[in-house]
Amino acid sequence: MGMSRDTFYRYKSAVEDGGVEALFERIRRKPNLANRVDQATEDAVIQSATDFPAYGQARTSNELRKLGVFVSPSGVRSIWLRHDLANFKNRLKALEAKVADASVGKDAIICLDCGKGFKTLKRHLNAEHDMSPAEYRARWQLSKDYPLVAPSYSKRRSATAKKIGLGRKPKAK
Ligand SMILES: [Zn+2]
Repeated sequence: MGMSRDTFYRYKSAVEDGGVEALFERIRRKPNLANRVDQATEDAVIQSATDFPAYGQARTSNELRKLGVFVSPSGVRSIWLRHDLANFKNRLKALEAKVADASVGKDAIICLDCGKGFKTLKRHLNAEHDMSPAEYRARWQLSKDYPLVAPSYSKRRSATAKKIGLGRKPKAK
């Protein structure tokens, strides 16, 4: 008897995620789950996963019920699986990405260490946390292109630089 590749990987990830029991439950429920969950429920489950990454599927189902969102623990799980949130580490990673995203405002970058906002973080990191930008990026697992200067501020700065003639070749006389 050959096992299809797809089945094999599903089996493997189920064993890693919650044991064979979870796999059987998923197979049994698979046909109708994907389409039955409406978008609002799906969004609520995804938001809960990043707001409370430590909650398991039962806890998530319980907490959401208090908010008027009715989804079973296995329903939670199937949404997690679709969004690669089925284990704590992935939910934590998603939370980190969300926090990094939220820390970049138009007018200020929020320091993830102390929660204060700055037009430019570099000096603050150095003065208050004794950290270089590279150390800060590493500490919070931020991407290389994560900005340390607020977008509106860097725009204004380059506009000012142009106005006073910086970054422009002097006119030949
Ligand atoms: Zn700080």
